[in-house]
Amino acid sequence: MTDTCRTTCPYCGVGCGVLFKPGASRPAEATDTPGTVAGDPDHPANHGRLCVKGASLHETLGDDGRLLQPRLAGRAVDWSEALAATAEAIRQARASHGPGSVAFYLSGQLLTEDYYVANKLAKGFIGTPHVDTNSRLCMSSAVAAHKRAFGADAVPACYEDLELADLLVLVGSNAAWNHPVLYQRMQAAARTGRRVVVIDPRRTATCDLADLHLPLRPGSDTVLFNGLLVWLADHGGLDRDYLERHCSGLEATLASAREAAPDSASVAHQCDLPVADVETFYRWFQHTPRTVTGFSQGANQSVAGTDKGNAIINCHLATGRVGRPGASPFSLTGQPNAMGGREVGGLANTLAAHLDYQTPGARELVADFWGTDALADGPGLKAVDLFEAIHRGDIQVLWVMATNPAVSLPDSERVREALARCPTVIVSDCVANTDTAAFADILLPAAGWGEKDGTVTNSERRISRQRGLLPPAGDARPDWWIMAEVAQRLGYGEAFRYRGPADIFREHAALSGAGNDPSAATGGRCFDIRGLSELSDRDYDRLAPVQWPVNDAFPRGRQRLFDDGRFCTDDGRARLVPIQTVWPGSRPDRHHPLVVNSGRIRDQWHTMTRTARAPRLLQHRSEPFIEAHPRDLARHQLVDGDLAVLTRQRQRFVGRVRASRGQRPGEVFVPIHWNRQFTPAGLASALMPAVTDPLSGQPESKHGVAALTPF
Ligand code: SF4
Repeated sequence: MTDTCRTTCPYCGVGCGVLFKPGASRPAEATDTPGTVAGDPDHPANHGRLCVKGASLHETLGDDGRLLQPRLAGRAVDWSEALAATAEAIRQARASHGPGSVAFYLSGQLLTEDYYVANKLAKGFIGTPHVDTNSRLCMSSAVAAHKRAFGADAVPACYEDLELADLLVLVGSNAAWNHPVLYQRMQAAARTGRRVVVIDPRRTATCDLADLHLPLRPGSDTVLFNGLLVWLADHGGLDRDYLERHCSGLEATLASAREAAPDSASVAHQCDLPVADVETFYRWFQHTPRTVTGFSQGANQSVAGTDKGNAIINCHLATGRVGRPGASPFSLTGQPNAMGGREVGGLANTLAAHLDYQTPGARELVADFWGTDALADGPGLKAVDLFEAIHRGDIQVLWVMATNPAVSLPDSERVREALARCPTVIVSDCVANTDTAAFADILLPAAGWGEKDGTVTNSERRISRQRGLLPPAGDARPDWWIMAEVAQRLGYGEAFRYRGPADIFREHAALSGAGNDPSAATGGRCFDIRGLSELSDRDYDRLAPVQWPVNDAFPRGRQRLFDDGRFCTDDGRARLVPIQTVWPGSRPDRHHPLVVNSGRIRDQWHTMTRTARAPRLLQHRSEPFIEAHPRDLARHQLVDGDLAVLTRQRQRFVGRVRASRGQRPGEVFVPIHWNRQFTPAGLASALMPAVTDPLSGQPESKHGVAALTPF
């Protein structure tokens, strides 16, 4: 166990390459240091850089706290008993209540191969459409926006564009904390004349890079970008030639924008910004051909998340700045494999390989490819609706993989009630004691980072290998293996007889090319990696990072999409989408006077089940906190360092207050990470109502309301 392997970091969507050198033996305790990690200098995402989370990976690998054996109703059992019980629960639910009584809730932490098998098993053979993923909470609004504008869920840009841009606009993105290595690349690329605009209600660490910070009223992003479109039209800033040749929808979109944001004075008023700052931003955008607009959870996690994405993309289409060096809209993905999950069909409204149920012939194509006659009929329930269906009793079996919905979903107390009511909850995880595992009837130990093999796709469409060198902890097994074994017991035989992840990857790559004709008028489906469908096991093992598509036209991958002005819509033209103003679902009132924004902190990941194992990652912020403007603290008889409680209806979140002039008065910020295993202080997600974007189904995790009182 002394070889060094090239792998990727399992945390954020930057997808940094890691050199991992395990120690001489498996670590027994979390405090053991099982080898070393370093940034991979040859990986194009990070060129050797790592943030502190990536650099601490080896400190999180001990067996301490790992789920080491399958468990049935709390009793340790062997795999044969656990797999039989899992298959039997699914068989009985399907026979008694129909295939739609079984649901899967997946994760952007899964490898693409695991995700592919889950989707195939659930939608293809069990026949349930109810397969959703925690990527719903992260990127689904960007997905819906891409599909409306480009005809496909495709990110046109690459990381190099963030360095090439003369104007970098960051919307709802605290990249300094949440995409740290990308932020380092942005910092390193600073040069004379390059400008950065940060659009975020909070003054975050990312604002250190900003020439202009626009602390806009929460939820007013579409007003700002509708106003930009109007400004461009009124000041000769449209690329009429590009619009004429490659786009449709300008007139209706412009009319709608004029209604919502007639001039910069109106925009400034609605967004609560100085007119001069709004116009400075508009002028910089107008006069800077090489502009990249990066947008992230601050835009996506909203009842208008899809509209926010399209309002941004509209301005880029209107100026012909899509898929060009240093000029593109750029959705910055949250999780390491949110994009890989989207590729296989991990969202409930998609089928597989970027095919939708409603695409003519798609269902037949996938059913034929998989050799099944049980394929689900149409879209399933998205995350929030899925847990509501569980609460109602419509779901008999829920299989949760590599995620912790009891902490992360909004209105978390209701989610816990749903989990408690579900007749059979199956949880596959590498960690033993998560909030969700506490509800499990069947617990299945999954292999963790450093132990498993497969691929992930990062924010710039780059597929990279994750490789394992450590033996799995205890009886842990890869997720794909667990599902394939259950499939065998359900009688789905040949379709799941994989020798390893390379077999699965080849099948996934072949499906991406099935019925996909790049010479068609539409240009075929963007996601096409058929060029990787015949890799030998050895080539798969050695696969170097590559950006999709990978096919005859682009055998070495493609750095940017749509640079030829051809899009994935029926007529090959991009769509500008009319956007009306939709304000947040929750408004402050007498009982809940403060707006609550939630998000991540620099050194933790998701619900802390892994990052809390590294002591140095707890040094940055060691306890839950409530960041508030000093004026709000004074109004509530609080001073910096006091313990305080945020209350929404019967839900409470306790934290130490931190005074910050970076908060807008009337708005507070809380971190999402702390779970009930670490603190009885309450969950940030309990403060968030389960309201969602009607198109994407993404919850509005940036805009709850609450009352603040001393503890
Ligand atoms: Fe890992 Fe993201 Fe940090 Fe890179 S930036 S090391 S992918 S957490």
